[in-house]
Formats: sequence, structure tokens, C-alpha cells
Amino acid sequence: AKARVIVIGGGIGGATVAKYLAASVTTIDVTLVEPRRVYTTCFFSNLHLAGLRPLEQLTHGYEALAKQYGITVVHESAETIDPSAKTVTLNNGSKLSYDRLVVAPGIAFRGGAIEGYDEAAIEIMPHAWNAGPQTRLLRQQLESMEDGGLFVLVAPPNPFRCPPAPYERASLIASYFQRSKPKAKILILDAKDSFNAQDLFQDAWNRHYPGMIEWLPAQFTGGVTAVDTKTRSVITAGETFKAAVANVIPAQMAGRLAHQAGLANQSGWCPVDPVTFESALQPGVHLVGDAIIGGDMPKSAFCANSQAKACAFAIAADLTGSTRFPAHLFNTCYTYLAPDDAFSNAISFQPVDGKLKTVLSFVSKVEESADIRRLAARAAEGWYDAFTHDVFG
Ligand code: FAD
Repeated sequence: AKARVIVIGGGIGGATVAKYLAASVTTIDVTLVEPRRVYTTCFFSNLHLAGLRPLEQLTHGYEALAKQYGITVVHESAETIDPSAKTVTLNNGSKLSYDRLVVAPGIAFRGGAIEGYDEAAIEIMPHAWNAGPQTRLLRQQLESMEDGGLFVLVAPPNPFRCPPAPYERASLIASYFQRSKPKAKILILDAKDSFNAQDLFQDAWNRHYPGMIEWLPAQFTGGVTAVDTKTRSVITAGETFKAAVANVIPAQMAGRLAHQAGLANQSGWCPVDPVTFESALQPGVHLVGDAIIGGDMPKSAFCANSQAKACAFAIAADLTGSTRFPAHLFNTCYTYLAPDDAFSNAISFQPVDGKLKTVLSFVSKVEESADIRRLAARAAEGWYDAFTHDVFG
């Protein structure tokens, strides 16, 4: 009989594992469990918020994975995992058996960190940290905001999905305000005292949007403690900020299923072997993407995709008895400061003493020319098409 691999989560990490396993070995049956029929990418969703990309262009289906690669795609959510019986129970009650399991559930939000930020509040002060309806809602709020209004962005504590993304969001929304609501202001209330690529962002904010964006670190405000949706206020220890639009990005942890299945440790994230991406807590279960403790690897789509390939090849080698190759892991990231100004980085990683460590890195500099930045903004568009084709095509 063919070996059975179940992949839970059809986001960037899960879809890539399923595709690369199915494409590289014909003696493995691959099932992908994902409740949603379409996936909207978080990457480039900040361009949607700025009115620069329709959400439809960021939305991908599972047809190619099913038809071209023979993956069984089940649109249900996984409720429980029983690692000793090697079974997964779905929310429709059916039970699936596996030889190997891959779990790629992305992130969940930590409850209780910000008082009043509950399920109902999410519909009034969207996080838009999973793309789709939340992104659409935030865009609608920005569009209907009056000129002169205050947009408050609450930035999360480390570690979180995509370190530069809150600041890219502020930059692109500033570019939208500059075009459509030039009297509007942006206030970033951060849970941290510094942030990723801070020099590049602050340089760009001074050049492109002088006086529009204010960033307040945790040491000045004590961080956001509560929200009041009735008055659309964001509350810190010393001050209350009344927002026209509020985007609250809460503290994060591995997706819920990882906790149910005993895959996460007390940090809230999942420890893995950095070569095979097998769980350090449950043998026979592998994890990739934002849910893992990735060492130097940030929680990015590019990293999830790179980890997924290493994981797929390790599982294929184990199940077929073929040679296992050493993992090569990468991150490439383009970040928009303005529609024609983007910076980039490229980093390679390797497992060293049980941890994923940076080997080589390139990071854009503040003094780069406008031409280089314009080229990066265009290269990012090509990257988007090639990358999503690699995952879903
Ligand atoms: P996801 O892509 O979130 O996939 C998880 C999937 O699991 C989801 O489809 C979910 O429905 C499914 N799932 C969850 N629970 C279950 C369950 N119980 N049963 C079945 N399925 C389940 N990264 C970059 O590389 N470049 C960028 O420019 C970039 N920009 C970003 C901008 C923003 C605003 C944000 C928020 C993120 C950005 N990222 C970027 C980060 C990137 O989106 C994530 O790192 C990436 O999506 C992680 O992939 P994942 O597979 O771990 O999780």
C-alpha cells in the first residue's frame, strides 16, 4: 500500500509541503486538509490597504494542487490529532489515518493581552493579520475615514508573523493618505522599543511622509493595555487615544491545533528538528511555517516555503529509503516604503547545533539610490507571481 501523508493547513507552508511531496514521489498518497476554498496572501495585502491591488489578485485556489499533482484536498478543519493512534479527526466527524503528519496551522492570537479586544472587537478594530475579510474591512474603514482623522496601528510584541509588516503597512497607508486624505495622521503604538529595519523605515517616513507618522515605543507609553470599541479608543497606561480607524495587531502564538496536539511548548510555539522539521515533542509529526520556533528564521512566507521543501524531502527520504540531502534554507523579502520605493533582503540559513542559524545575509541600506529602490519595487511584483506559482500553481 502507498504511504499516507496528511498535511493540515493549506497556507504557504502546508500547500508547499503537499505539492513537493506529491510532485517528487509517486508512491505516497498526499491529503491536504484546509477549511477554506481559497487562500488570500498576507504578503501584498498592505498594497490592498493602500488601494494599489485588488484582493482578487491576491487570492489563490487549490485546483492545480488537486488536478496536476493528484493531492486529495479536503475542505474541512482538523479538530484533533491523536499522535499515538496516528489519526486526525475532522470537524465533520470523519477520521483519517496517516503514516506521517505535517501540521502548518499558522498563527493564533493570544487572548487577554489587550482588555476588551475580543471576537466582537475584531470586527470593529480589525487585525487584518490573516488576509481576506479582515483586510477588506480595514480597507473599507480607511476609505470611509474623513480627511484629518487619526489612524492608530497597535504593533505586537516579538515574536510575530512578518517582522517588517506592521511598518510596511503604516508606510503604504501613509502613501494612500497622501494621495486622498492629506490631513490624516498615523500613530503607531508599539509593544516594543525598536523594530525590524527601523533605520530604513524612519528614513523613508521623513523623506516621503514628513510629519504624518508618529511611532511611540513601549518605553514611552507602557504599551496598549485595553481598547474601547464604543468610543473607538486605544488605551495605554497613561493616555487614551481616540482613533478614526484602529488596526490592533495582538500578540501571537502557534495556531490552535498545535496546542491541542501537544506540539507547542510553554513559549506558545513549536520546537522542531531543524533538518527534518519533525516535532521535538511528538514523533512522526512535522511542522513548518509561522507555528515553529525557527531560530534565526523569521516568520515569513518565504521561510515557510523553504522549510516546507526541506521537510517534504526529509519525509520522502524516510518513507522511500532514499538518500537525505542536507537542508538549504532561505529568506528573500521585499518591503514597500512607498509604491516606488522598496527595500529587500536575502538570507541563507543552516542547522547548527540543533538551531537554525544565519549563514549569509544581504540587507538594503539607507543610502541606496532611488533607482535601486524603484527596481526592488518592480522586482517584488515578479517575485509575487513566481512565488505564488511555486506554492499553488
Ligand atoms: P498560513 O499561511 O497562515 O497558513 C495556515 C493555514 O492553516 C491557513 O490556511 C488556515 O486556514 C489553516 N489552518 C489553521 N488551522 C487549521 C486546522 N485546524 N485545520 C486545517 N487547516 C487549518 N511573508 C513574506 O515572505 N513576504 C512578505 O512580503 C510578507 N508580507 C506580509 C505582510 C503582512 C501584512 C502579513 C500579516 C504577513 C506577511 N508575510 C510575508 C508573512 C506570511 O504571510 C506568513 O509568514 C505565512 O503566511 C506563513 O505561512 P504558514 O503556512 O505558516 O501560515
